[in-house]
Amino acid sequence: MITEMQLYLNSLGVNTKRLHKFIGEVVAQSRKRDVDIFYDSQRYTDIHPRLRVQTDRAFLPRKFHIDGSACSLDRCKKSHTIKLFQHDPFERDPILTLRADVAGQLYDSNEIIICKKEGAKT
Ligand SMILES: [Zn+2]
Repeated sequence: MITEMQLYLNSLGVNTKRLHKFIGEVVAQSRKRDVDIFYDSQRYTDIHPRLRVQTDRAFLPRKFHIDGSACSLDRCKKSHTIKLFQHDPFERDPILTLRADVAGQLYDSNEIIICKKEGAKT
């Protein structure tokens, strides 16, 4: 599982030919070795198009209140479930539902991640 995939691809720089070669080799090697690669990103469009076209399945989580109404407010303090939908290829019903208060215990939602620029003082 690779979280925040865009950070890894961005670290390779803007050389398109190099990036295409890297993505192609990683995908080809994973298929030869019968390995699945799972990755996530905050936004689907943050993922390089070359990798998006090589992705077999895309999932989209959505947050709901316990009464079933959708929630789109990050700061909302109500209780939630998170439903994971398979976006591509499309499936109408969620493939799983998580209780946010249970799954949230595994994740430090207050953590702030900072990516230092090369050569920056510490
Ligand atoms: Zn809410």
